[in-house]
Amino acid sequence: MSGRDDVSRHPPRRLDEIAARVSAARADAAARGETFYPGPSRIHLAAFPPTERWDEWVELESTDWPRRTERRYMLVPTTCFNCESACGLLAYVDRDTWQVRKFEGNPEHPGSRGRNCAKGPATLNQVTDPDRILQPLKRAGARGSGRWEPVTWDAALDDIAGRIRSAIVEGRPNEVMYHVGRPGEDGFTERVLASWGVDGHNSHTNVCSSGARAGYHFWTGIDRPSPDHANAEVILLISSHLEAGHYFNPHAQRIMDARQRGAKLIVMDTRLSNTATHADYWLAPHPGSEAAILLAIAVHLVRTGRHDREFVRRWWNWEEYLAAERPEAPRTLEAFEEAFLDLYHRFTFAFAAAESGVPEDTIARVAETVAGAGSRLSTHTWRAAAAGNLGGWQVARTLFLLNCLLGAVATPGGTYPNAWNKFVPRPIHTPPHPDSWNELTWPLEYPLALNELSFLLPHFLKEGRGKLEVYFTRVYNPVWTNPDGLSWVEVLTDERLVGLHVALTPTWNETAFFADYVLPMGLGSERHDLHSYEQYDGQWVAFRQPVLRAARERAGAQISDTRQVNPGQVWEENEFWIELSWRIDPDGALGIRRFHESRQRPGEKLTVEEYYGWIFEHSVPGLPEAAAAQNLTPLAYMRRYGAFEIRAGVGPLHEDPVPDSELQDAVQDASGRVYTRAPAPDSPNVVPVGTPEPDAAGRRPVGVSVDGVIRRGFPTPSGRLEFWSRTLDAWGWREEAVPGYQRSHVHPDALDADQMVLISTFRLPTQIHTRGGNAKWLDELAHTNPLWLHPADAARIRVSTGDLVRVETEIGAFVVKAWVTEGIRPGVAACSHHMGRWKLHDQGQRQIMATVDLAQRDGRWRMTRRSGVRPYPSDDPDTDRIWWTDVGVHQNLTFPVHPDPISGQHCWHQAVRVTRAAPDEAYVDITVDTGRAHEVYQKWLSLTRRADQHAPDGTRRPYWLMRPLKPSKDVYRLPAGVPDEHAD
Ligand code: SF4
Repeated sequence: MSGRDDVSRHPPRRLDEIAARVSAARADAAARGETFYPGPSRIHLAAFPPTERWDEWVELESTDWPRRTERRYMLVPTTCFNCESACGLLAYVDRDTWQVRKFEGNPEHPGSRGRNCAKGPATLNQVTDPDRILQPLKRAGARGSGRWEPVTWDAALDDIAGRIRSAIVEGRPNEVMYHVGRPGEDGFTERVLASWGVDGHNSHTNVCSSGARAGYHFWTGIDRPSPDHANAEVILLISSHLEAGHYFNPHAQRIMDARQRGAKLIVMDTRLSNTATHADYWLAPHPGSEAAILLAIAVHLVRTGRHDREFVRRWWNWEEYLAAERPEAPRTLEAFEEAFLDLYHRFTFAFAAAESGVPEDTIARVAETVAGAGSRLSTHTWRAAAAGNLGGWQVARTLFLLNCLLGAVATPGGTYPNAWNKFVPRPIHTPPHPDSWNELTWPLEYPLALNELSFLLPHFLKEGRGKLEVYFTRVYNPVWTNPDGLSWVEVLTDERLVGLHVALTPTWNETAFFADYVLPMGLGSERHDLHSYEQYDGQWVAFRQPVLRAARERAGAQISDTRQVNPGQVWEENEFWIELSWRIDPDGALGIRRFHESRQRPGEKLTVEEYYGWIFEHSVPGLPEAAAAQNLTPLAYMRRYGAFEIRAGVGPLHEDPVPDSELQDAVQDASGRVYTRAPAPDSPNVVPVGTPEPDAAGRRPVGVSVDGVIRRGFPTPSGRLEFWSRTLDAWGWREEAVPGYQRSHVHPDALDADQMVLISTFRLPTQIHTRGGNAKWLDELAHTNPLWLHPADAARIRVSTGDLVRVETEIGAFVVKAWVTEGIRPGVAACSHHMGRWKLHDQGQRQIMATVDLAQRDGRWRMTRRSGVRPYPSDDPDTDRIWWTDVGVHQNLTFPVHPDPISGQHCWHQAVRVTRAAPDEAYVDITVDTGRAHEVYQKWLSLTRRADQHAPDGTRRPYWLMRPLKPSKDVYRLPAGVPDEHAD
């Protein structure tokens, strides 16, 4: 470990400089006739061990230098679990000790191409963390008392299974809930829940990306973008992709590739992020004004005739818009363009400048740059503004508007709908859709929310909307991650509301302290998962695997249970869920067990080998052939290489003509949407994103007629890109049916004279929610979160860097240190999340968690720090070298919930008062009034338009909108007794 002095003597080089050196090295290599890496990376990776030597790789032991000690390794691929990017890792398994010595990048992974960020190799820290949980624990005192006793897996499984079985048998399926933070897998657990027949899936997504998802989904029917950064001429980002954005490392390296070719980079971020420092244009708008700028650019494109008229004519549903909103206008493109300019007439550069604070001429220059991109404009937003503001989902909608105007959709250098660059294989068993609807996650107030209203759960429970018999949290820490964490503490400590809380986690977290069982689950190198993410115009599938198991098996051992090779009693979830499902339904009478039985050995338990072996053999195109060419089974191929590229260059799938074989008996509606007569008989319960849903009559859309040719189109109701959303219009949001600009809840007009905006949505590149906390290298790099303040604000408040300031929110306050910087707009403060970890008792993570006192009286809470981090003895000598004491402030505790009435996204930005801390206030002091938090929740709830008052068809939710786990169509109907005023 190095101290601060070392760091300052060796300042990091700028990324551009490093990139230029890499580029020059590549050019030199090419001049010497050296070939690029032959695998799917397709880039020069001369430093990687060739795959034919992965069984027996010899390196010198670096710590023995200058002695030359040889170490023998077996190299085993797996997938990083430290963010959502799923980069490939290569575990160096010591052949003598059978322990992992290090993790490096996997050059066979097409997404990450052998590269990782700091968090990838730090997986090693997590594996060897002396504070990790190694055995199942059961609460031995009151919840939160910190008293635990060891329990066997058998006893825990029997208790949990018994309670779930009772809930199912007694007709209380909605009392079983699985609440996941980072899934890190595609569909396994949704399938398990479907097999139990429960609508029990809950996610973190509404505190993360639902805003952006909604913006994309209403345009394309698909909830994510897939920008082809590497081939773009102009890259427009509303987030910090070079350091922490979505699909960070895979995207960052492609952005740098484009920059080296001369592509322009435009970054909108109120704060000077590392990404903004690399931009050609850094725009620091007032938070929430981004859509006003984007609409001004859109108007400029149309007014100057720089848009792709032919693309708009063929692929937008402009005729639907004219029919609905301008029925008097002729149905011509010219009339639509006129209507467009009329609709957005107020979005001049001057208006955008007034709203955003960005100079008018800067916006004009950016608009010209965007116009010059043509179809090579790649754009991306995720979290950031879309997750910060009331109406933030319109930021994504107006950003993608630019792609739609330029025809930069599914083009080289443009932005694809993600489903075309992602692959979801069909699993071995497909349980039916659950026959229940859980209003604790999908309440009537939010019929259009893109994901579960997860962060409102404490308020729903307090209001008596339901209770939970068994509540799983898995890689999820709502007490710390969500806003309003102390309302979570209040319900988690009330056994009438939460009967049994099971925390599935590799490491201690603030929510696990309030569990009944803490069950140790495997890290990225200790478990199986499958994933495929959109990171370029291609499709790949990657395999996370327990590397010690794979290594032992490669060496000839027989392993039947991952616990045989994992540390302590750490298990993997796949085997846990299969075992739990068998115990819920031991004799198969409930119809659950059959979905967890072997196909090869009927009546016996499904194994992970068979589960993944079946998928690789039957569901991944091209993999069996690639494996056979190397005399491997498909499973052995994936165990050896860790990833497989199914397709490169997917291209514009919406243009694909629909084959005649799919059009027999097809019918076409007035707008050109083409349907088959019925859906496939056994449609899976987890429908791959991008699959069009049946209409009200049960007909499945297969295409759309464009100039007389039936093409695949987009999975929207119209089959086209929906500039005008008939769904938003029909469900009571006519004014939001087109891309628009809604003034944020932190718009200057909404602030009191003494208030500022607090941005809390950014993260540090080297920390990642709860999981980064048990990685010592990451903790050393980043362990605090001072408040960014502009010098003008600092002068007004009379503070300097390091002084304590008090930040007052609607429900409480926190005390933090000031960091005075010009890298933030005046009037705006910023504080990173992923900091302020805490524990109440001795157990817990000691490298990044402060020990605190937490007291409550009549819903008024107070948290004070008892001690910070300090060195401690352990098996790892580095814990004695800990030099930091500060771990930052847990600001999220002081935020009330702000659910956007359409997308359901929590709107993170806060209107705050920042003042000098009083003499009796100490660093990281926190006060919260949870009664007031409930009032704020009710205020935001009143903004909604309920399904039972606005649904056009008597249902709870438009059936075509995505849901992670779709229940049966029958339960979409509003329950009897609920007024259905608008049913047809
Ligand atoms: S970007 Fe970093 S943390 Fe995320 S998966 Fe890749 S290596 Fe892991």
